[in-house]
Amino acid sequence: MKQILIISGKGGTGKTVITASFASLAKNKVMADCDVDAADLHLLLHPKIKEKHNFEGGKTAVIDEEKCIGCGKCQEVCRFEAVKNEGDKFKIESLDCEGCGACTLVCPEEAIILKAENVGYWFISETKYGPLVHAKLGIAQENSGRLVSLVREKSMDIALKKGVDYVIIDGPPGIGCPVIASLSGIDLALIVIEPTLSGMHDAQRAINVAKHFGIKTAVCINKNDLNPKNCETIKKDCLASGIPVIGEIPFDKIVPESLVQEKPIVEYRDCRVSSEIRNTWNKITEILN
Ligand code: SF4
Ligand code: SF4
Repeated sequence: MKQILIISGKGGTGKTVITASFASLAKNKVMADCDVDAADLHLLLHPKIKEKHNFEGGKTAVIDEEKCIGCGKCQEVCRFEAVKNEGDKFKIESLDCEGCGACTLVCPEEAIILKAENVGYWFISETKYGPLVHAKLGIAQENSGRLVSLVREKSMDIALKKGVDYVIIDGPPGIGCPVIASLSGIDLALIVIEPTLSGMHDAQRAINVAKHFGIKTAVCINKNDLNPKNCETIKKDCLASGIPVIGEIPFDKIVPESLVQEKPIVEYRDCRVSSEIRNTWNKITEILN
């Protein structure tokens, strides 16, 4: 079984369009949407949710007012100034609380407990392409790296149980903690690059992260005809770094049309874009097999 991760240095490069088409082209696979901050693979794969689970974030302290005698020991010990008081009433500001638990240790009345907050959900769904594991993180919530690891773990469980050939993963944008969580154990990271200066810069950072972790990498240039000169630069740089460029997808306004129709482009229209995505998928299978 091979795990393929599709990433880009930044959002909006067409990563999900390509992933959804791979989901349509690949046989015998499980999909995972690890773009947990802005998941959108489900819009193209139309999952039927079979399981919904809470995702708990870090713990924060809460005071039981009934038990509190107003001694202020919790405030004295809190290094994060999370314990506020008005007169003899004490309360903990959850946004400032780091969940260290020091206050629970000093409270003489055992009036403080550490409580985990529900900050999102993860789902196991069925699609016409196979199982999809996906998630939804609450707005402005942290811990997306942990949620990415959870989505990866659950998709692997299903993959092993079903004995599939591929796990196809829509990765998070950027190069932070979620991307690092999505890279572990990957057989091939496909980096989608748009030939703009910012796109190239961000993609280079993603390539560096993948290289740092020793992950086999290939590049796909999306909207390659938008800037042929930058496209040549990308190809030259990739050649110098020993990274194969396995896809050059042209710009076509049929792609946004397919998104409005909520269909993977390879199913929506036989066009230059879908033909190039097919070629890219074939090259991935050649590299992996
Ligand atoms: S858990 Fe730690 S950070 Fe939170 S209120 Fe108690 S002492 Fe302060
Ligand atoms: S240490 Fe316990 S009893 Fe004292 S103020 Fe804090 S919560 Fe109340």
